[in-house]
Amino acid sequence: MLRQIIFAVTLLITFVIFFYTINRIIGYFRLTKPAFPVKNLWQRSGLMMKVAFGQTKIFRRPVIGFAHALVFWGFCVILAGSIEMVIDGLAGVEKSLRFLGPVHDLIMASGDIFALLVAISIIIFLVRRIFFNIKRFTGIEMKKRSHIDAAAALTLILLLMISLMTMNMGYFGYKEITGGTIEGIYPVARMLITLVPLSAQHSEIIYEASWWTHILTIFFFANYLPYSKHFHVFMSVPNVFLSRLEPLGKLTNMDNITREVRLMLDPDAAFAAAPADAPVERFGVKDAEDASWKNYFDSLSCTECGRCTSVCPANLTGKKLSPRKVMMDLRARMKEKGPSLLKQGKDFNDNRSLLRDFISEEELWACTTCNACAKECPININHPSLIIDMRRYLVLEEASAPGELKAVFNNIENNGAPWQYSAEDRLNWAKDLEININ
Ligand code: SF4
Ligand code: SF4
Repeated sequence: MLRQIIFAVTLLITFVIFFYTINRIIGYFRLTKPAFPVKNLWQRSGLMMKVAFGQTKIFRRPVIGFAHALVFWGFCVILAGSIEMVIDGLAGVEKSLRFLGPVHDLIMASGDIFALLVAISIIIFLVRRIFFNIKRFTGIEMKKRSHIDAAAALTLILLLMISLMTMNMGYFGYKEITGGTIEGIYPVARMLITLVPLSAQHSEIIYEASWWTHILTIFFFANYLPYSKHFHVFMSVPNVFLSRLEPLGKLTNMDNITREVRLMLDPDAAFAAAPADAPVERFGVKDAEDASWKNYFDSLSCTECGRCTSVCPANLTGKKLSPRKVMMDLRARMKEKGPSLLKQGKDFNDNRSLLRDFISEEELWACTTCNACAKECPININHPSLIIDMRRYLVLEEASAPGELKAVFNNIENNGAPWQYSAEDRLNWAKDLEININ
C-alpha cells in the first residue's frame, strides 16, 4: 500500500507540474493571430500517417534517418508498456494488461526489442554529436545551451531504454528461476539473462530498482521536455496534422490589404465587411504576437535538427540567414515577451522586438523564398511564411526594403510593371528589327 501511495503522489506531482507548464505555453497562443481554418481532416490524417508516423521525410538521409525513425517508432511502441506500468503502480498489481493475451505478448515483445534498437540508435546519435563535427549541428543559433540540451535529452532516453531492458531482464530472470508465470514475451531479456546469469534475489532487486528508475525517468522527462528542443516529442505529430495544405510557393493574401483594395474599388461593400471603427491592425509581423498561431506552433515543434538550414541556398552561399534560427528566435521571443503580454495586456512594450533584436533585416532579405527549407523539414514547418510576413511589415509599415527592391516597387507604382519603362515603350527595343511587332 505504501508503494501505491508513493507512486500516486509522484504521479500527481508530475501531472500538476506538466499541466502548469503546458497551460502557460498554450496561453501564449491567445496572443497570436489567425492563420488558416483547419479543414480537410481526412487529408490531414493521411498526411500525418505518412509524414509523422511513416517518417517519410526523414528517410531522405537513409542511414541516420532510419535510426531516427527507429527511435520514433520505439517511443510509440514503448508508450503502451508505460501505460501498463502506471496502472500497475496505482493498482499495486503486476502486468495489469495481461488480460489482452496475444496483444499483451506483442506489446511486451516489441517494447523489449525496440528498447535495444533505440538504445543503439541513441548511442550512435551521442557519438555523432560529441565526437564528430557535423556541420548541421553548428551555426550562430546553436549556443552551448542547445548542445547541452540535446546531449541531456539523449542521455535521458538512453537511461529510459537501459532501465527498460534491465527491468525486463530482472522480471524474466526472477520468474524463470522461481517458476512463476511469465506474462509477455521478452526475446532480448531472454538473451541477456543467458549472457549475465542472475540469482533470484538479484533479479528481484534489479527488477524493482529498474522499475522505479524507468517510471521516475519518464516523469522527469515529461516535465523536462517543454523546456527543451525535445518538446517536439509532443508537438511534431500535431504539427504535421496542422500543416499548410496549399502548395508551398503560394503566397497568402493579407486580409487587411485585401480590405483596403476592396475599399478603393467598392467602399460600400468594404465598409459592410469591416466597420470603419475596426481597430487598425499592424501589417505583417514585427514581434512575436504578430505571428500566427501556426508560426508559433512551428517554433515550438522545431527539433533544431538543422535540416532546413543545410539546404538553404542563402545559408550555403555564406549569407547570414538560417531558417532554423528564424524558428528558434520566434520561440525565444515569445518566451521572453509572452508572460508580460499576458499579465499587462497587448500594450506592453519592452522596447525590443522579434525584428532586429532577434532577426535582422539582412537575414530576412537574404531569403530567396525557394521553400527548400519547408520541403526538407521532417515535420512540415513553414519558415518562408514567417519570413515573408516580416518583410511585409518592413515594406508596408516602414517602407524599408533594399534599394533594388525599392526601384522595383516604384516601377510597379508608376509603370504597372517592374521595369523602368512605361507600357508603351516596352517594345522599343524591337523597333529596328525586321519583325512584325503588331
Ligand atoms: S525559402 Fe528562404 S530560408 Fe528557406 S531555404 Fe529558401 S532561401 Fe533559405
Ligand atoms: S525547422 Fe524543421 S528542419 Fe529546421 S531545424 Fe527545425 S525541425 Fe529541423
